[in-house]
Amino acid sequence: MSHPYSRRTFIHTSVMAGAVLAAPRHLFAATAAPKPPFPVADYHVHLSPTLSIEQAVNLGKQRQVQIGIVEHPGPGFPINTDADLKQYLERLRTYPVRIGLQPVYAGWSKSFSKTLLDQLDYVLMDALTLPRPDGGWLAIWQIDTMVDDEEEFMTRYMQFIEQVLTTEPIDIFAWPTFLPVPIARQYSQLWTHQRTQRIIDLAHARKIAIEINEVAHVPDETFITAAKRAALKFTFGTDSRNQNAAHFYYCYQMAQKCGLTEADMFVPKKK
Ligand SMILES: [Zn+2]
Repeated sequence: MSHPYSRRTFIHTSVMAGAVLAAPRHLFAATAAPKPPFPVADYHVHLSPTLSIEQAVNLGKQRQVQIGIVEHPGPGFPINTDADLKQYLERLRTYPVRIGLQPVYAGWSKSFSKTLLDQLDYVLMDALTLPRPDGGWLAIWQIDTMVDDEEEFMTRYMQFIEQVLTTEPIDIFAWPTFLPVPIARQYSQLWTHQRTQRIIDLAHARKIAIEINEVAHVPDETFITAAKRAALKFTFGTDSRNQNAAHFYYCYQMAQKCGLTEADMFVPKKK
């Protein structure tokens, strides 16, 4: 496993298959929704060998989109110590970007001192790396994820979502309502009112923003409308590592359909 958390395989395969998106019809809409008439940001950009910080900043300028950079902390990832985090912050502070982290494992923040964590503009976390009852993790974004019993899976998934939304330091909930490939087509059936309302209530309680995810086309219009009604805030995210940074299609479409305004968007304070 050279890079256990890379989602490039997922992205590539999903685009090829065209089958795992919650709302695939939007891929085939005749016209793209326009850029919304308010400041737009992509708070889910990863630097990589195919995307330098300079390139990310330039793409943001070209597309008139503010950029937020995230990196994964923890074992197997580049940021493991206070020294790593300090260097990450100092390097990015010289660029016109917001600086975030995207932790993967619960409890990650214990490895860092609070004064350094306080210098981050935001923390974005998803609930796609489920702890297994027998140890280890299940990365449900991987294309070969198996689901034997969807109700049992949803129960487990909801438990982990609850854990992330109630116990983790988090500003933005990423990839909300994403479902693994084998059950993606049952999206509207499995995301019952009770389940989506639970997520909305938990996010509301801690003022956690909801990411509208460009890659996975989640959450769907029904969820976004309900979350907006509950006064939740939103962010747009490409989860990109290349020239797709700051390039939005689904997010703009949802902004238009759900009537999002500047007041609905979450903007982390620059520190
Ligand atoms: Zn990411």
